[in-house]
Amino acid sequence: MTPYDDMTTPKPAPLIDGFGRTVSYLRLSVTDRCDLRCIYCMAEHMVFLPKIEVLSLEELDRIATAFVSLGTRKLRLTGGEPLVRKGMMELVGSLGRHLRSGALEELTLTTNGTRLAEFAGRLVEAGVRRINVSMDTLKPDLFRTLTRGGDLAKVQAGAAAAQAAGLAVKINAVALRDANAAEIPDLVRWCHGHGYDLTLIETMPMGEVDVDRTDEYLSLKDVRRELESFWTLEDLAVTTGGPARYVRVAETGGRLGFITPLSHNFCETCNRVRLTCTGTLHTCLGQEDATDLRAVLRAGASDAELVETIRAAIATKPKGHDFEIARKQPAVARHMSTTGG
Ligand code: SAM
Ligand code: SF4
Repeated sequence: MTPYDDMTTPKPAPLIDGFGRTVSYLRLSVTDRCDLRCIYCMAEHMVFLPKIEVLSLEELDRIATAFVSLGTRKLRLTGGEPLVRKGMMELVGSLGRHLRSGALEELTLTTNGTRLAEFAGRLVEAGVRRINVSMDTLKPDLFRTLTRGGDLAKVQAGAAAAQAAGLAVKINAVALRDANAAEIPDLVRWCHGHGYDLTLIETMPMGEVDVDRTDEYLSLKDVRRELESFWTLEDLAVTTGGPARYVRVAETGGRLGFITPLSHNFCETCNRVRLTCTGTLHTCLGQEDATDLRAVLRAGASDAELVETIRAAIATKPKGHDFEIARKQPAVARHMSTTGG
């Protein structure tokens, strides 16, 4: 319990950056570890962080709660793989108090799904209502190759268990030119047939991995054009303030999203910031700007000091990102698994 748990005290002013954008969405990476090694996300042999560098569950809770007190309405837990973090259900259960108080509108997760069957019921109990599950293919062999060892059946069983427990499921698939481009219509049919939304993501140049991402980059503009040659895609007005644009596929009745950080600029409506599992606040996914909140916490800062540091960081949120797939170098050195996707 921190002073920010007491929502009867007058609320501080919301977080507004230097370009007038209100920041109301925090993505919190709870670990850099993962039980998979997706080729576009991680190198095969990753060196993970020593435990001491990673925020404790209490530190994660304290920072998240400070953000909630500053008007954060949506909190997404990610990683690495959030469901491999020890004590994760305690953290989710604890953060659920902000849903019950009405301060938080949504608490959600992005997961690779491998442990979802085990945890779906407890996520629902904590107040989670929707979940994103990453799955790039319907082919078990290709899945094993792309994730360097993953078991597709386990992920599909995880998504089914989540749905059975009452969670709305959205599948995330990274669009890869050689690996799964031809399979995208099947993925759409499969997801919509199971009652899941599907969001396609363009590869982003983040962190050194072993493959050349310029070879696998697939523009979703081209994917959309191809799908429109045999389906009717009806634009939907929904927006999350992020890079996703949604359509309804008339023939399947399901929802399809396109996340296009490279071919479409979304920065002007950006409402989100990210915290790494080491407590570094990044106010832009595609820039190197960083504020070390862990150092502030571990120096014994009060809640007021923590809030002031967060405000100062938000005030300097960059106008936009700097991704350019044509460059061979990653636009930012950190991996997606560190920042949290
Ligand atoms: N482990 C969880 C998962 O896979 O869903 C959460 C973390 S993962 C980093 C979050 C999302 O980022 C996943 O959907 C993954 O496919 C995506 N991702 C990882 N690296 C990426 C990259 N370089 N470009 C685009 N998306 C990426
Ligand atoms: Fe792990 Fe997710 Fe990265 Fe795949 S995308 S390696 S599941 S963190």
